[in-house]
Amino acid sequence: MNILVTGGAGYIGSHTCVALLKAGHKVIVADNLYNSTNQALDKIKQISKEELTFYQIDVTNESAVDDIFTNHNIDGVIHFAGLKAVGQSIEIPLTYYYNNIVSTMVLAKACKKYHVNRFVFSSSATVYGDNTVPFVETMNLLPTTNPYGETKAMSERILTDIAKANPEFSVALLRYFNPVGAHESGLIGEAPNGIPNNLMPYVTQVAKGKLEKLRVFGNDYPTMDGTGVRDYIHVVDLAEGHVAALDNLKEGAHVYNLGTGKGTSVLELVKAFEKANGIEVPYEIADRRPGDIASFYADASKAKRELGWTAKRDIIAMCRDAWRFEKKYKDLVESK
Ligand code: NAD
Ligand code: UDP
Repeated sequence: MNILVTGGAGYIGSHTCVALLKAGHKVIVADNLYNSTNQALDKIKQISKEELTFYQIDVTNESAVDDIFTNHNIDGVIHFAGLKAVGQSIEIPLTYYYNNIVSTMVLAKACKKYHVNRFVFSSSATVYGDNTVPFVETMNLLPTTNPYGETKAMSERILTDIAKANPEFSVALLRYFNPVGAHESGLIGEAPNGIPNNLMPYVTQVAKGKLEKLRVFGNDYPTMDGTGVRDYIHVVDLAEGHVAALDNLKEGAHVYNLGTGKGTSVLELVKAFEKANGIEVPYEIADRRPGDIASFYADASKAKRELGWTAKRDIIAMCRDAWRFEKKYKDLVESK
């Protein structure tokens, strides 16, 4: 199939392009490179030994999106393009609502116009809010406390309503848990600008000596060791989940958790990183981070049942691959 991948130069999008090309699909990437560079596109080609088509456009731009649908016989869309920094979304909510919601609507409109009925959307486990664990797709969603989370919940509702009105439209709403790690080649991975907010990129930068020590946000949560628990999922497993979702689309809107179903605490992740890579990660206990939830992980059984997909890579592989990327690829980029 010809798959339009918006945000395909980004972290999850680039790994998904590799998985799509490997599965024999043709890939057309649309990305404005706001949070990525076109180097990722070269690396995708290098890993997959396949070509892809790239448009540097903003997917909120209706006529630019229309041009892609005119130039290519698009069979399906995977919509990753979006802004994703939770804290920033509280500071500049309009930018987040505009970017994340308008992009979804522009793409849905083009799909309607060009009779494209396959759509896969990047949602997030954040839409569950502070529900009880494990999070199951049938749960009522709770408020997310930030505009970023609201854009995901709203986009899900928009796409669900469109699918209700047009029974031929098939949408998979994929709720990601915590994507970490990198492609095993070390050529693509997560490269946040500035000081990372997320745990794994913070840990890799401490390991590299770029940051002095990890601050563990709270050790008094009701969890096994008092530190926050998350469901970390290897980005390559996540990428493969998109191919499975695309292959198993069915009419209507269907929600799937993409997680491992296993919770890992902050201290467990630090220990796994040290074991996987033989490097010490200095840390100190700090105050809780405002807005954090103690624990969340997926009930991952629906994706297994309906998509035939499960995450295969364990926390050691996640830590090893994250570190390989930090060492190998980012050295090349940063030395330029
Ligand atoms: P990323 O920032 O690495 O990738 C997003 C890509 O979209 C970037 O390349 C950026 O340049 C592009 N982009 C943003 N707005 C655009 C626009 N208007 N037009 C064209 N391109 C645009 O982020 P990621 O981690 O790969 O996340 C991909 C998607 O998954 C996002 O929608 C994100 O909200 C969602 N998600 C991510 C996580 C996570 O922890 N990484 C968790 C849950 C959901
Ligand atoms: N965390 C931490 N120190 C950091 C970054 C994160 O202790 O520098 C903790 C955080 O409190 C949470 C877990 O690591 O319990 C995962 O945080 P992340 O921001 O990666 O994911 P999210 O909280 O958005 O799920």
